[in-house]
Amino acid sequence: MRASSFPRIDRAPRLALGNMSTPFQLLERVSERYGHGARIWVKRDDMTGSVVTGNKVRKLEYIVAHAKAQGCDTLITCGAVQSNHCRATAIVGAQLGMKVHLILRGDPEAPLEGNYLLDTLAGANVSIYTAEEYQQTLPDLMRQWDEHYASEGHKCWQIPTGGSDDIGVWGYVNACEELALDFERARITAHTPIVCASGSGGTQAGLALGAALVDLPATIYGVAVCDDAAYFDEKVKADVDAWIKRYAGDSFHPVLPTRTIDRYIGPGYGKAQPEVLNLIREIASLEGLFLDPVYTGKAFFGMVTELANSGFGKPRDVVFIHTGGIFGLLAQCDELIM
Ligand SMILES: *Cc1c(COP(=O)(O)O)cnc(C)c1O
Repeated sequence: MRASSFPRIDRAPRLALGNMSTPFQLLERVSERYGHGARIWVKRDDMTGSVVTGNKVRKLEYIVAHAKAQGCDTLITCGAVQSNHCRATAIVGAQLGMKVHLILRGDPEAPLEGNYLLDTLAGANVSIYTAEEYQQTLPDLMRQWDEHYASEGHKCWQIPTGGSDDIGVWGYVNACEELALDFERARITAHTPIVCASGSGGTQAGLALGAALVDLPATIYGVAVCDDAAYFDEKVKADVDAWIKRYAGDSFHPVLPTRTIDRYIGPGYGKAQPEVLNLIREIASLEGLFLDPVYTGKAFFGMVTELANSGFGKPRDVVFIHTGGIFGLLAQCDELIM
């Protein structure tokens, strides 16, 4: 980061939890088939770890550092029963000797597989609520569990859905500093679309803010996997505004180079359209790269469809942020059997 141009930003404390910097790789066969003249690169954030894999660990490095600095010994967070974020939090908690409680949304009889299996193996306490109860009472549930642990003498830190908040934003600001070096090594200098999946918006927010801070020649395209573009535009702005307030002071007004695309949600969150499932199979056999049906498959499908329709103009390079999700893929075996 150009500290000189932003002298008032204090870096937040960070725990080293993931394997960064992650590799930046050219997908030769995918570029040939889907690039329409562009080279398609992938930032391998699916390689941040073997079990704490994916984008959430980048956010947790800052969130958990903050929680520990506040003297917290317990993490409470929430998400879908196959949440990658909850799994990452459960495992990070085990690695650091912290208690973890997960408030999960789903069928109380959900099969113990994928991320949910790892949550329980990592020793997290889990309570599952139906979608209805979860949606109506989540803030109360978070508070109730917080009070429960407090009454046992613990101090809790509550992490919001997906770790998307002002502290978590740092994770992808930091990733942009890596990308600046990746661009330099790959000699990418022209304006470049960077594509990521957006579920709770924190990755898009961090990338957008980071791109502005390091002057990356890029536009960040968040491909929505659940809510619409208006929701994500608002959420990205809210997370960045909260970050500015906490770390940079109110006089800092970056222009965020980002847009949300909401044409690839398909049947809904966690449910992939057949074209996405086909693409997952194809990319796996073409490059040995595994996308997932909840996030990265939809975002990758969005990227190649936009490239085919010149939705990004005629870029020389396109970068895909592979945000992980392998265990979510393994929880959808039935859908992937041909
Ligand atoms: C959570 C998640 C995303 C979305 O990131 P947000 O910061 O929540 O928008 C994308 N891909 C994977 C695999 C994820 O687990």
